Amino acid sequence: MLRTGDLKLMQELNRSIILNTIRKKGPISRSDIAKLINISPTTVTSAVNELINQRVVYEDGVGSSSGGRKPVLLRFDPNSRYIIGVSISNSFIKISEMNLEGAIIKREVHSTHQYQGNEIINLILTIIEQFITSKDNIDLCEGISIITPGIVDSSKGILSYNSKLKLYNIALKQIVEEKFNIQTHIDNDTNAFVQAENYFGSFSQYKDLLYITIGDGVGSGVMINGKTLRGYKGSAGELGHTTIVRGGLKCECGNEGCLENYVNWPAIYSKIVSSLLTRGKGTFIHDQVKGDLSKITPALFVQALKEGDVLCLRIMDEVVSHLSTSIINTIHLLNPEVIILSGEIIQDNELFLGAIRSKVAQGVIPILKEEVNIQPTSLGADFEMLGAAAVILQEKFQFVFQ
Ligand SMILES: [Zn+2]
Repeated sequence: MLRTGDLKLMQELNRSIILNTIRKKGPISRSDIAKLINISPTTVTSAVNELINQRVVYEDGVGSSSGGRKPVLLRFDPNSRYIIGVSISNSFIKISEMNLEGAIIKREVHSTHQYQGNEIINLILTIIEQFITSKDNIDLCEGISIITPGIVDSSKGILSYNSKLKLYNIALKQIVEEKFNIQTHIDNDTNAFVQAENYFGSFSQYKDLLYITIGDGVGSGVMINGKTLRGYKGSAGELGHTTIVRGGLKCECGNEGCLENYVNWPAIYSKIVSSLLTRGKGTFIHDQVKGDLSKITPALFVQALKEGDVLCLRIMDEVVSHLSTSIINTIHLLNPEVIILSGEIIQDNELFLGAIRSKVAQGVIPILKEEVNIQPTSLGADFEMLGAAAVILQEKFQFVFQ
């Protein structure tokens, strides 16, 4: 026999499944929901009544009937409530209000003013406070989602380690919840991005995903069987700090030969600079830069590759060689179904993607050669906010709104 607690949980689960069905299949009738998910029509009716009371679902129009009364159709209302996303990077704090489909309603970008430690935490709190004091419907806020580089223990809500911002062991979830009394989630940014690729992007059909982003560092997020791989302390997916050259370049993590020091933008930049000085004459990039090193940007690097610039092509080969080593190792360890690459040097760079695909395919065990599936990110310019949104929405849509 079911105890009261179990019964309540069952009802919540049913409501959650019904809400998700309306969200994904709507407009849909009550009887079609019952048939589709094999739940009794009475259960569907009472759950739908509650969802309508909560305004997340509304009646809209009628469907066709095979005789008898035409059924009323139900739709999900993504604008019934909203969420707040906060993305922290070394240079910016971005904050947005989004609806329940991750559409941005209002956004602000703030400089971090190169603050670190307590100063940056206080700045984040001030930015959130100013953002929400302008709102008169704070009761409709479903939650705040904060994403940041570094190691995050998302279940405890602790930012354990972010060396660039000098943040160590900060109970950020608790701090924000106590100040604003709004449920708060905190996650590592690349973990959030892999969730967003799966939730919003083109990769919802996959359950095993590896996401790699190349910028000032190298970040990665791993999803296994539809769940983010976190590890014991939340540090899983530190692909940038896997060793690829024993005794190689010194890394800020204390180790030597970590991947990120060979493939991140600062590494590519310094290779371009030193090559320009020694044998750059006559190359496309040399002519573009004309001695002004500040003109060397990821976009110019990508353009130089397209122009067939020999200097940049050689640097790309080195980057591809190192990155493919790490990807091959990871494929053999985790067997992902898709590998998603993002970052400015990947953006709009089919040449790079093609090179990495073939280098990886050469290195994997024979039965995986045909299966190598490396794709560019599908999230677009608002990837940070979609990441923050995915952290909340993935969890929210497992259970119904309180
Ligand atoms: Zn390292």
